Amino acid sequence: MARQLDYCTFCPKMCRHACPVSTASGRETYIPQVKMDRLNQLRLSHSTWTTETTDPLWACTGCRHCTMYCDHGNEPGLVLFSGRAAAVSRGVPHPALTNYSERFRAREQRLAAQLQSLFPDNLATEGEVGFWPGCDAIDKGTADIAASLALLDRVGLSAVRLVDAPQACAGYPLLAAGHPDLFRWHAGRVAQSLRGFRKVAMGCSACLYAMRAQYPAEGVNLRTEVVSLAELLAPAAQNLACSLQRRSVYYHDPCYHARYNGVIDQPRKALSQLAQVREFAWNKGDTECCGGGGLLPKTMPLVADQMAKRRLAEVQATGGGMVVTSCSTCSFMLKRNAPPNVEVANLATAMAQLSETAFTAPITPPDDEM
Ligand code: SF4
Ligand code: SF4
Repeated sequence: MARQLDYCTFCPKMCRHACPVSTASGRETYIPQVKMDRLNQLRLSHSTWTTETTDPLWACTGCRHCTMYCDHGNEPGLVLFSGRAAAVSRGVPHPALTNYSERFRAREQRLAAQLQSLFPDNLATEGEVGFWPGCDAIDKGTADIAASLALLDRVGLSAVRLVDAPQACAGYPLLAAGHPDLFRWHAGRVAQSLRGFRKVAMGCSACLYAMRAQYPAEGVNLRTEVVSLAELLAPAAQNLACSLQRRSVYYHDPCYHARYNGVIDQPRKALSQLAQVREFAWNKGDTECCGGGGLLPKTMPLVADQMAKRRLAEVQATGGGMVVTSCSTCSFMLKRNAPPNVEVANLATAMAQLSETAFTAPITPPDDEM
């Protein structure tokens, strides 16, 4: 970490163009080099840990776009998240994230109960393959969960059940909020809940990354194989018997899928069974973050929304259309910032619509907590 901070401190800002947070906010303080320099000054005790001095640490979604343009392979996203943990341990959390551990626990209980009440016939504690939709899907995308179940049924994967667990989230927000100890404890409990399944398909790109990379890093032994829902749907999509509409749709790569999880071809393969896939100018490993990562919608909501608007402006400028993505957080962010001529859909919902697969969306109470 110290080496990365020193390299960035003396870097001629080679990755500045790649950071969507600084671009959307227009703030020089939020370019990767300055954020890393500010953290370095705190590490070296050249400045004191206050809400003001630590503010740049929170101006990051962890999207890893800067790393793509770094000759040293530096990881500002991961380093800044470590800086958040250091800030929290010094009693300086982000003002929007005070009492976050208690709020996270309360939200977990509420969302786990909500999943059980909305989908009582689709839950199981064991099986060959399970489905973990993720907290944002349970909170804001239950139609996408219903569409996923209908689609899985139609492609011959009717045995896939929602994981019946006391948790709703795999824990990424705890890392982003600067609570690695609580993350480690929570990850152990999630691993226990998944133990009855050989494989689990995840609906959230950031939590898939957390399970694959951060669980082992924290010593949590996840015996269950975890994959994205797109990886489950891609090989099965050819079983969708329907009259092809061949509508063209844009695919937005979630940054955690494209740059951490290697999920790039699978959603395109699944979608291409039903539609012509169009590309954003920034796509695949060079995708641009929609603003949903790193708890930015909580800490800097206006910047996060501006990032989503920037992402969709390209589609808007070319006359509009449908944008499909494969992460429940991206779906939520893009939907709430979509202009009138842009329709945003989660991958499973888009595939259900394009293949005329019927599903009924349950009604859920609104919640703005993340
Ligand atoms: S991540 Fe790499 S390119 Fe970006 S500021 Fe740091 S050293 Fe420079
Ligand atoms: S990880 Fe993404 S948001 Fe964070 S500094 Fe790098 S480019 Fe910016």
